[in-house]
Amino acid sequence: MKLDEIEYLVVGAGFFGATIAERIANDLGKSVTIIDKRNHIGGNCYSEINAETGIEVHKYGTHIFHTSNTTVWDYINRFTSFNGYNHQVLTTFENKVYQMPINLETINSFYNVNLKPFEVDEFLDKERAKEFYPKPQNMEEQSINYFGRPLYEALLKGYTIKQWDKVPSELPASIIQRLPQRNNYNENYYFDTWQGIPSLGYTKIFEKMLSSSLIKLQLNTDFEEIKEQLNEDTVIIYSGSLDRLFNFKYGQLDYRTLRFEEEVKNVADYQGTAVMNYAEKETPYTRIHEPKHLHPERDFLDDKTLIVKEYSLQDNGEAPYYPIGGTENKELYAKYLAEVAKMKNIIVGGRLGDYKYYDMHQTIENALSVYEQHIKQ
Ligand SMILES: Cc1cc2nc3c(=O)[nH]c(=O)nc-3n(C[C@H](O)[C@H](O)[C@H](O)COP(=O)(O)OP(=O)(O)OC[C@H]3O[C@@H](n4cnc5c(N)ncnc54)[C@H](O)[C@@H]3O)c2cc1C
Repeated sequence: MKLDEIEYLVVGAGFFGATIAERIANDLGKSVTIIDKRNHIGGNCYSEINAETGIEVHKYGTHIFHTSNTTVWDYINRFTSFNGYNHQVLTTFENKVYQMPINLETINSFYNVNLKPFEVDEFLDKERAKEFYPKPQNMEEQSINYFGRPLYEALLKGYTIKQWDKVPSELPASIIQRLPQRNNYNENYYFDTWQGIPSLGYTKIFEKMLSSSLIKLQLNTDFEEIKEQLNEDTVIIYSGSLDRLFNFKYGQLDYRTLRFEEEVKNVADYQGTAVMNYAEKETPYTRIHEPKHLHPERDFLDDKTLIVKEYSLQDNGEAPYYPIGGTENKELYAKYLAEVAKMKNIIVGGRLGDYKYYDMHQTIENALSVYEQHIKQ
């Protein structure tokens, strides 16, 4: 790769970078180089087959594609078809399994009642009479308003502490406002028009997106190691972290990271579902994934399955997953963004570049819009 001859350099081969590289090659007709510091394409959506079981694993956590955006749906369908998987999440508390997000089945089962949808509010009002916050200031108060303290303590509190290492009284009310209570039996995790798992897995999507001969892919390549050799006219599309780009000169942006532990079990089905949350604080992992269930259309060995335990921990700058946000981090991010504004020919985006949690469809939507507005014209 002759670094000083590159016209477009995309940093990061996740959905943000791959979408932009694909558009530059296949729409603009220009050559583009895409690098990733990892040894694979796909960013956090990368999937691979486990050799012992033949089960496809999402290496960075279970990913379900879902969207109601027609442009994104049409775009992604150029590179893959989807199976009919519909996502459902369950949670275990004191050896009993409940549906999440909280719905009528969860409320009935937890409070040992048999309410009809129109009876739920009146029932929960009795809980609210015991404790209610007219102006909920944080996640704890908002959750108690929605579900009553007993259900909050059981299903939400411990899980949240494990996930964020913060008690819900320190977290914004908006977190739980995004997961409103359902007074019916709808157990679908998403309400989007389309959802599913790519029929041939995620990695195949990226192989197809990056298949043009105009795209040069270089893995195991960190932008930090090559940036000095680039021509000053090279347009850089950067989807890495901004604090790292500036050598953490103002400090480190806070993230939660995840650790995954894979285990082969000699049974056909370990937990009966793709994702099982563990609500109790004392259980060290937050959830167990069983990726076999993401592909009900595939044939698997009937005496083996693969499970993946997920642990949540503070990131040390190595593997950022979930931005923690908050005022201090927002101010820090703004300082780095001001540094970007002083640079020539660099476009920043993606979940790391924007320091925001994005679902895959939002990442693709943003990338398509960045391409149209800042690269195509
Ligand atoms: C646990 C988890 C579960 C998720 N589940 C879902 C889901 O079910 N549904 C959904 O829609 N979304 C889900 N998401 C979100 C999804 O992962 C993101 O939307 C998507 O990965 C964002 O793509 P990206 O390209 O911005 O970032 P990434 O996929 O992280 O790609 C960025 C790439 O840039 C590379 N990079 C960074 N810095 C450098 C550098 N200096 N030099 C070279 N390369 C660099 C990284 O190695 C990485 O490969 C989930 C996210 C997490 C964390």
